[in-house]
Amino acid sequence: MSRSKELFKPINKSEVTMYNCGPTVYDTPHIGNYRTFVLNDLIRRTFEYNDYEVTQVMNITDVDDKTIRRSRAENVKLSTLTKKYEDLFFQGLTSLNILKPQNITRATEYISAMIELVQSLLDNRVAYKAKAGIYVSIDKVKNYGALACLDLSKDSNDEHGQERISNDEYDKENPRDFAVWKFRNEDDGDVFWPASFGEGRPGWHIECSAMSMKILGPTMDIHTGGSDLIFPHHTNEIAQSESATGKPFVHYWIHGGFMNVNGDKMSKSKNNFSKLEELSGSDVSPIAFRYWLLTAHYRTQINFTFEAVKAAQNAFLKLAANISEYPEGGVISADYKEKFIKYINDDFDMPRAVALVWDLMKDSGVSNDNKRATVLDFDKVFGLGLSKLVKESVEIPQNIKALADAREIARQNKDWTKADELRKQIEQAGYDVSDKDGAYKITKKN
Ligand SMILES: [Zn+2]
Repeated sequence: MSRSKELFKPINKSEVTMYNCGPTVYDTPHIGNYRTFVLNDLIRRTFEYNDYEVTQVMNITDVDDKTIRRSRAENVKLSTLTKKYEDLFFQGLTSLNILKPQNITRATEYISAMIELVQSLLDNRVAYKAKAGIYVSIDKVKNYGALACLDLSKDSNDEHGQERISNDEYDKENPRDFAVWKFRNEDDGDVFWPASFGEGRPGWHIECSAMSMKILGPTMDIHTGGSDLIFPHHTNEIAQSESATGKPFVHYWIHGGFMNVNGDKMSKSKNNFSKLEELSGSDVSPIAFRYWLLTAHYRTQINFTFEAVKAAQNAFLKLAANISEYPEGGVISADYKEKFIKYINDDFDMPRAVALVWDLMKDSGVSNDNKRATVLDFDKVFGLGLSKLVKESVEIPQNIKALADAREIARQNKDWTKADELRKQIEQAGYDVSDKDGAYKITKKN
């Protein structure tokens, strides 16, 4: 809101309440969408590393214009469609080592909370009933558009443009007002719920307000989303939430930068990828994609190229190989930990934290066992699952470890043929590889 870094002060000591706008489950997520979910995960892990208890809520938008349209086009039940894409989305989160939020809220399971919120907006006359639905009158909202720096006195050419306000797909009658409830209509088929003010379904914006406040209360510490959600989505969330409760909705907004995918043509032959599964089908791992994301600050705009992620994967594998060679039993370097905390606590500066890891690797003043202990500790925040890639034994030759790393990546990518082939190579060289508790272990054959 202030467009600047602020000192974080929690509502309740040692606790963080956080809401993340989740996916609209009508299609396979674009890899750019996952950047925001990695950011959410890094925020949570950073607070947990600082001994905060984080209550994280992420919604699943399983009813809105897009989901309904798609289910009608495919002639399947809305829930059949949304379940399919929700499952795909969670597979993506798992492959990126993203911790599952404790609270996953599906819009269709919170309709009564949405109806209550709409009713309170009608009661205090911020919302009015029109032909197509219930609308919020933005003239009745204090500081409407502050988050997006909207200047409502201008008719056009402000930051986001008047055009976008009038083009909001919910605005049918009065171009500036937005719908919180859409009355039942033919295009929605059998998707509607009863309500005292008229059967219908919620607008997208009200969904997030109702679900976040139902779990976290009227005021939360942190609300996140991609920067494309600042207007109109988050702007409208603030308007309707604060109008209903009279309390500040969110203390800190965190928005992730945009990710471009190189080239409009998403052809595989050109090594351009737009979906996570396409990445998995290539020889780079989703974890390498995560590592690559860590190397850019979350607010910067980044450009995805296969080559960039491939280079990140090489760096990541080198790190994993180094750490796996180092003996266990070390202690965490206090100096490096102090710097690490300073960086991650400075607006989640992961690029500096990653650079610090490489400084540590080169530092001859720190013993190898201590390097290992320190990097594995930092990985609680990075979430690269390094401990899974790291083997227990130090007596395994480098080329065998490289084969085992490659096999692990093939396994993560579900490329079983390649994984089997690599296993054979490892066995032919006189070693066994076994998988246990999400980690693998190499042993010399007797
Ligand atoms: Zn939202």
